[in-house]
Amino acid sequence: MRYAEPETVEEGLALLSTHDDARCLAGGASLVSRMNAGQVAPAMLVSLHRIDELATTTESAEGLWLGAMSIHRAVATEARLRGAMEVVRSAASQLAHPAIRNMATLGGSLCLADPKTELPAALVAASARVEVAGPAGRRSLPVEQLLVGAFQTSLGKGELLTRVFLPRGLGGAVGHHLRFSRVSADYPTVSVSLVLAMDGETCSHARVVLGSCGPVPLHVDAADAVLVGSRLEARDVAEAGRLLVQASAPLDDVRGSAEYRRMLIPRLLGRALSQARELAHV
Ligand SMILES: Cc1cc2nc3c(=O)[nH]c(=O)nc-3n(C[C@H](O)[C@H](O)[C@H](O)COP(=O)(O)OP(=O)(O)OC[C@H]3O[C@@H](n4cnc5c(N)ncnc54)[C@H](O)[C@@H]3O)c2cc1C
Repeated sequence: MRYAEPETVEEGLALLSTHDDARCLAGGASLVSRMNAGQVAPAMLVSLHRIDELATTTESAEGLWLGAMSIHRAVATEARLRGAMEVVRSAASQLAHPAIRNMATLGGSLCLADPKTELPAALVAASARVEVAGPAGRRSLPVEQLLVGAFQTSLGKGELLTRVFLPRGLGGAVGHHLRFSRVSADYPTVSVSLVLAMDGETCSHARVVLGSCGPVPLHVDAADAVLVGSRLEARDVAEAGRLLVQASAPLDDVRGSAEYRRMLIPRLLGRALSQARELAHV
């Protein structure tokens, strides 16, 4: 196996084009354990650690660009992630445990596309976009279009993810993330990421996204529509939960059966909405 540490995105792209099965190495938390288990054996490993551009955060009037190599701890402590964007900070601060949060990266989480993980769902809730660099130049696309299936992205051959854009979102909106796991630090059985705005006691904006409930983060426009204009009463939450359950295809694994996950969805949704509502009224 060959190993390289390019210093620019362009050098990285050139190295990725040298082997059909060349792979980027980000935090390595997942890739290295899969290599150790003999599940993958790339002929060329392109480390992204020395590419400064990928570790840079920039701010504009519209929002924040986070470099693909931002580790979860840096995202969790990024004070500029406020309002709607806070959903991503909230998820990064709760997921896994300190060793993983100090190692794994935003770009690695998206490119792994593991349905058990929660950061991709939080990024969909935040209406985030990604920038991808490849042999044909750079392009930008919504996170939903990057995540196309379990462990599958729409990245083309020789492409790498450079950064993630988080729009500021509606003024007055709050972002919140709630996870349910068997024990602390385990992957969540179900996670709920949401952005909510209230006009007095009435919900004026809602975007709810679930993790571990399908091959990709689950977002159902009709469920958001039930919440918007409602007072988030029990029957509104139950109807939104019913629509989410109907559209879900939950994982069925050691962390919970599909049936158990379907039972959890409306309960966690209710809890996440009432916590977010409190935050919106602070
Ligand atoms: C023990 C353990 C517990 C975990 N618990 C949780 C949890 O509770 N919640 C949660 O959400 N997540 C959890 N995760 C997942 C973690 O948050 C990351 O999603 C995961 O480890 C991948 O990030 P990484 O930076 O280590 O990527 P790597 O392992 O380095 O790479 C993963 C894949 O993405 C590709 N890749 C990486 N970066 C790029 C890029 N910029 N462009 C193109 N391709 C790229 C690699 O080639 C590889 O195929 C856990 C992981 C582990 C190992």
